[in-house]
Amino acid sequence: MDIIKTKEVWFITGSQDLYGPETLKQVAADSQKIAASLGKSKRISQKIVFKPVLTSPASISGLCTQANSNENCIGLIAWMHTFSPAKMWIDGLSGLNKPLLHFHTQLNRDIPWKTIDMDFMNLNQSAHGDREFGFIGTRMRLNRKVVVGHYLDEDAIERIAVWIRAATAFSDARGMKVARFGDNMREVAVTEGNKLSAQIKMGYSVYGYGTGDLVREVNKVPESAIRKLLTEYAGEYSMTKSVASSETLKEAARIELGMESFLNKGNFKAFTTTFEDLHGLRQLPGLAVQRLMAKGFGFGAEGDWKTAALVRSMKVMAGGLKGGTSFMEDYTYHLDPKNTAVLGAHMLEICPSIASGKPSVQVHQLSIGGKEDPARLVFKTAPADAINVSVIDLGNRFRMIVNEVEVIRCPDMPKLPVASVLWKPVPDLKTGAAAWIFAGGAHHTGFSTAINAEYLEDFAGMTGIEYVHIGSNFNLSDFRKELRWNELYYHLAGGIS
Ligand code: MN
Repeated sequence: MDIIKTKEVWFITGSQDLYGPETLKQVAADSQKIAASLGKSKRISQKIVFKPVLTSPASISGLCTQANSNENCIGLIAWMHTFSPAKMWIDGLSGLNKPLLHFHTQLNRDIPWKTIDMDFMNLNQSAHGDREFGFIGTRMRLNRKVVVGHYLDEDAIERIAVWIRAATAFSDARGMKVARFGDNMREVAVTEGNKLSAQIKMGYSVYGYGTGDLVREVNKVPESAIRKLLTEYAGEYSMTKSVASSETLKEAARIELGMESFLNKGNFKAFTTTFEDLHGLRQLPGLAVQRLMAKGFGFGAEGDWKTAALVRSMKVMAGGLKGGTSFMEDYTYHLDPKNTAVLGAHMLEICPSIASGKPSVQVHQLSIGGKEDPARLVFKTAPADAINVSVIDLGNRFRMIVNEVEVIRCPDMPKLPVASVLWKPVPDLKTGAAAWIFAGGAHHTGFSTAINAEYLEDFAGMTGIEYVHIGSNFNLSDFRKELRWNELYYHLAGGIS
């Protein structure tokens, strides 16, 4: 998945004509310097494009219109070098449909005590100019991120870098197509939801297919392509000779190639399967799903299209970062009071991007689904900070729940041949699980060791969905109140349409 430096973030600077051409020339030069500096930072994953200084309602509206219609532009970073009367911004901002970050910064880090004069004061006004801009954002109830700090401050740059990655995922989700092979697992509640509302809020569109559509593609895969892929497996994973030469592995390769071809032909970025609908497939796609996730496809099991789209978005945010991102499920608990932990796994479908060491391909019976024994990658995840994320449909809105977790070493489980992760929820299992359950979080999640809660908070802000966070400094009683208050806010914010 190649997303680095493929898109643009526009750096826009507000001012006004009052100061005369000399000052405005300096404003432009300073802004260019900041934009160029951000663009050169290794943390910044997209191009930063400097735009001419904005001094009038017409130029602001024109710029916002250009941003809306430019498909490479994924967001705007705004900075008010001088005072920029904010009524000028109303028309432009009211029509803006790209994410907005307000960078509250200035060119000089320190006040030049010895030389500071009135010219300096006329030029370097962001401390008050940005407050005027901030007010209009608040007055207009705009979703935006505010980052404060000198433009060379590493922490400020990191906050911007996170937002740019979230904006990349937001842009990616706008055109995302999710393919569903079969429907939801029957009678399951949390994987249901309103696909139309999801498209209106998050941009992605969900397409349903019969398993037969996939089987037709799988049956077209030539033997030569399967042989080539089996060689690739042998190079990447450890396996016994009997697995390497098995019909099962050959069949898994056929399913992978057919599935990938189907997804690529239809331009799909995410997909779901369900073990209840595998008509014409000889095994539950395990290895295929794992490897396609590692290539950047989002995935949700049992028809879970919301999690499939979420996993894709998280993978886009994490592109090129250390660590991995996977579909996940809270499976079972270790309730030793001295060492409580959650064992995360799924029947098969965990992404090897979170594997520590070389995964092994194994073939074992699956006691559900009634198909042939499937091939799967088996591995563990190394200790790391991670997050679990769920998006649920509450009927009148979507809620995103993020729980920080700490991955810990997982003991050997010789009789459990699936990929698995052992973690401790933050602040602790009892509080974290209770909060998750009060919030209605699903058993399926997007799990990542590459990104933290801030990425998801930024992403949720761009889509306008509810965001709740379970982490350190957490109070369950306050959290329950937040959930109740949010009921009111989102009920009113939705309006009567
Ligand atoms: Mn499941």
